[in-house]
Parts: sequence; C-alpha cells; structure tokens
Amino acid sequence: MIDWDALAQQLSPLCSRPLLRNEPMRRHTTLRVGGPATLFYRVSELDEFARISEWAQSHQVPTFIMGHGSNILVSDTGIHALVIYNACERAVIGKETYAETGIPIRELFLKAAQQGLSGLEFAVGIPGTLGGALVSNAGAYRQNIADLLIEIDLVSEGKRQRVSPDWMQFSYRDSRLRRPCAPPTALLAVRMCLKPDAKRAIFARARHLQRQRIEKQPPESSAGSFFKNVYDHALAQRLPGLPTPLREAGVVPAGFLIEACGLKGYQIGGACVSRKHANFLINRGDATASDFYQLAQKVKQAVHEQFGVWLEEEVLYVGWTTDMPQY
Ligand SMILES: Cc1cc2nc3c(=O)[nH]c(=O)nc-3n(C[C@H](O)[C@H](O)[C@H](O)COP(=O)(O)OP(=O)(O)OC[C@H]3O[C@@H](n4cnc5c(N)ncnc54)[C@H](O)[C@@H]3O)c2cc1C
Repeated sequence: MIDWDALAQQLSPLCSRPLLRNEPMRRHTTLRVGGPATLFYRVSELDEFARISEWAQSHQVPTFIMGHGSNILVSDTGIHALVIYNACERAVIGKETYAETGIPIRELFLKAAQQGLSGLEFAVGIPGTLGGALVSNAGAYRQNIADLLIEIDLVSEGKRQRVSPDWMQFSYRDSRLRRPCAPPTALLAVRMCLKPDAKRAIFARARHLQRQRIEKQPPESSAGSFFKNVYDHALAQRLPGLPTPLREAGVVPAGFLIEACGLKGYQIGGACVSRKHANFLINRGDATASDFYQLAQKVKQAVHEQFGVWLEEEVLYVGWTTDMPQY
C-alpha cells in the first residue's frame, strides 16, 4: 500500500505549484469520463518536469503522464498514481524546430506555418499535445509524426537522455511506450525537421484537410477513432463495398467494419456508436467509462463474429487494473 500523504510531502519541495488530491479525470479527458487521480500535478516548466520524472521513476512511484486526454479512456475508479499533466509548451521554430511535448500539436502547426514551414498540416484537427502524438505515432492522411523527428529529449528509468527516434520503435499508431511493460518514460521535448514552403500553399493544404475532417467527424465528445484500421489484404479482397484504392492497399477502415455490422447508433448507457462515423464512440452526455468499455467490447465481438478479425484499440485504457506500468 502506498502512503500517498507521505509521498505528497516528499514530492512537494520539487513542485512550484500545489499538488491536487483526487482530481476528477473527467475534467481532463475529451470523452468526459474518468474517476479521480490520486495525486495530480500540472507542470509547465521543462526542468521541473524532468526533475519530478527522475524522482518518481527512481523511487518507483506509479506515474501517469498526460497531455490533453484525447486518446485515453480512464476507468470510473480513476488512476491510482501520480498524474502529471504536461503543459510545457515552449517551441523554437525553424527548419530544425525544437518543441516541448506539452505544446498542442495544432498550435505547433500554426506557429510553423506562419513561418513558412511545412510538414505538420496533417495535425491541424488533432486535439492533443505533441507528447501524446509521439506515444501513438499520431497521424492522418498517410503522414505520421514519427516521419519528422530528429531527436527526443526524455527521462527513462530515472535518467535524462537524448535518443534517436529509433528508440521509440514507431509503427502505425504505435510505439514501444504503448506496450505492456514499457519502461517508465517522460517525453520532454523533440527536435524535428520541417520543410520551407509558401505560406499560402501550407494553409491551403491545411484548410483542405480540415474541411474533410469537419465533413466526417461527429461534433460530440469522443476520443477520435476508437479502433485502429485493419491491414489485411485477404480481408480487403473479401469486401465488395470497399473503395478500390483501399482494397488494393489492403487497408480496411475500422469504421467500415463497424458500420457493416449495423452498429451505427448502437448505445450502451450514455456511450454510443456515432451515426456520422462508426469508428467514433461518443458521449451522449451522461456516459460512464464503464459504458464506453462495454460498448467497445460489444463492437469488437460483433466485428469478430462477422469478419473474423479482432479490432485493436487506438484509445488507451488507463486505470483498468492491468494497464498501469509495473515498477
Ligand atoms: C476529435 C478527435 C480527433 C482525433 N484525430 C486524430 C487523428 O487524426 N490522428 C491521430 O493519430 N489521433 C487523433 N486523435 C487522437 C488523439 O488526439 C491523439 O492521439 C493525440 O496525439 C493524443 O494526445 P494527448 O495529448 O491528448 O494524449 P493523452 O490522451 O493525454 O495521452 C495519450 C498517451 O500518451 C501518453 N503521454 C502523453 N504525453 C506524454 C509525455 N510527455 N511523456 C510520456 N507519455 C505521454 C499518455 O501517458 C497516454 O498513454 C483524435 C482525437 C479526437 C478527440
């Protein structure tokens, strides 16, 4: 049993603001669900973030680092850990850009675009931070954040270090930090490579992508795409309704499979499969985390029964007993 009062006392001298107790996580997640965090700290200064992470990792303190909570489903019982809300947002824009990981990724796009630097247009409608984007190799329209990186400044297993992007073992919507038994790691800042281009062209591309998003995405509270798309050539060949380019590439959108199961509009409690985009599970206003969990299981089961594949979550479950890092 962790004595959280004693731990808060030891941690306080490292912190420039008050530590909060039992902060409701529904205030900090885009799904608007989630129970309390045992200890909650908002950090906005990078060296402080590094010091607290070094201390927590070397003292085996269960820690969860978060950005804007736009890719997580926090359980109704909450997170029994020190939750660090990363608001370190400094950026120095150039062909080689430096950015702290708490910067909202769409703000980083804007700052870069205003200086005629291209590469982040895909991120214009993604509501998370750079740190969250790194962990899930966020992307859209066949571009991923990993493609831009030069170097990452992080604290892992108690030590601050600079590593090459290979360290993260990126793949489609994945990195080593999403996997069970990932080393406890705080991503602090990155250096990335952006390409000069005409501002007008950059903003035109971003506007075009943003319009596509607005047409497809539901406006209700969600965590974006709940499941990853399926890469399976054999399955793609079996689906006559799949658009030809997707069939040829062997990509089956999760939303296509969910819609084909007739689940659009299916609801459990306050959690519902969006009618506008079947891969968005939305909060009708009064959902619990448990409603979302049950709905996700129902969707996975239905897709498996009809198509023989198990959908894999893009959203990360937090506080559901087995997902917390083991120290
Ligand atoms: C409407 C909507 C649209 C979306 N569209 C897209 C899209 O087009 N493409 C896409 O890829 N995603 C999309 N998403 C999902 C989500 O926005 C991204 O994955 C985003 O990058 C997550 O960032 P975050 O700050 O919210 O991360 P969080 O949800 O706060 O955290 C996600 C994970 O990252 C970890 N983490 C966060 N910061 C750090 C850090 N500094 N150090 C270590 N670990 C950290 C957390 O521990 C957690 O495991 C969308 C979400 C919504 C709600």
